[in-house]
Amino acid sequence: NRRYVLANRPKGEPNEDTLRLETSEIPTPAKNQMLLRNVFLSLDPYMRGRMSDAPSYAAPVEIGGVMVGGTVAQVVTSNIEAYSEGDWVVAFGGWQDYALSDGTGVINMGKDPQNPSWALGVLGMPGITAWAGLTQIGTPKAGETLVVAGASGPVGATVGQIGKILGLRVVGIAGGAEKCSHVTDTLGFDACIDYKASSFADDLKQAVPDGIDIYFENVGGDVFDAVLPLLNASARIPLCGLISQYNATSLPDGPDRMNYLMGQILRKRITMRGFIVFDDFGHLYPEFSKQMTGWVKEGKIKYREEMIDGLEQAPSAFIGLLRGEAFGKRVIKIAD
Ligand code: NDP
Repeated sequence: NRRYVLANRPKGEPNEDTLRLETSEIPTPAKNQMLLRNVFLSLDPYMRGRMSDAPSYAAPVEIGGVMVGGTVAQVVTSNIEAYSEGDWVVAFGGWQDYALSDGTGVINMGKDPQNPSWALGVLGMPGITAWAGLTQIGTPKAGETLVVAGASGPVGATVGQIGKILGLRVVGIAGGAEKCSHVTDTLGFDACIDYKASSFADDLKQAVPDGIDIYFENVGGDVFDAVLPLLNASARIPLCGLISQYNATSLPDGPDRMNYLMGQILRKRITMRGFIVFDDFGHLYPEFSKQMTGWVKEGKIKYREEMIDGLEQAPSAFIGLLRGEAFGKRVIKIAD
């Protein structure tokens, strides 16, 4: 059993010393446990937070502990009645070949699911994040303008496509021309603005002639600076993620714009609400799953996956994810 454990807590960017590859015996399931063979490992931005012991909504990975992560796995042997050998499951199996589970938080997909790895993306955690953040906090009304940061990523791409289904004008923000073309040409957003261009703030302003009613925040930093003056009265901001800050070791240099932000929130009566998807909206999973499965089957929601072969690629692929190198949902294929 190969497994990646946390060797050091990174300061700033994780590097090749952050995780250590170890081997151990394949574990034996006890009564009420099953043995899972991980086939696909999801790479997600929140994993950076688990490497840190700063106060957070979830406990950090211990030094020497197996790195956590969502997986799609097959049941090898089961001492749990609801699972049998060969079942495909979505679990939290971590960065390793094999994991034990007592079934908590596991979803059984049966013996022959279509596209099983999609359960780590549009049909799983990033999908419900997009769906719940937009519908529950964004409270969209047809005709409004939605701006989505991180528009080519699994959450952002899904937010914008749901926005189109609900009749919104949708403007994405992404890094570079290639991602932006994908966002408009394949995903069907009305426009996509490259935040790396020097004309970014002006380009964004031109793209939202009626202002912004909903801003789905995945990124923070300079992108939010450009969005803030364009928000309309009663705008809603689902505050989902701040990936531009995850490797930061200090606050940015001044000027301090806290008072400007507070003034905007007050005068425009802006609602900004952070959320942690399963804590806040886990109860909506069945509704999400039904609606999203339908949309994907009907071709109304498109999904781009970046499959990377081999568990040993996971550390560098994760470092690259935080640098903006991913184009679509990054998944590691651990086994055939
Ligand atoms: P993404 O694939 O969108 O994340 C990687 C992308 O982020 C990169 O490809 C890059 O896109 C962008 N990015 C990286 N650094 C920067 C930067 N400095 N400035 C602007 N963009 C940057 O990941 P997900 O779709 O999985 O997640 C999106 C966000 O949602 C994340 O912030 C994540 O933490 C959050 N999240 C929150 C949840 C919750 O419960 N609150 C649940 C799930 C996700 P580009 O090349 O376009 O810059």
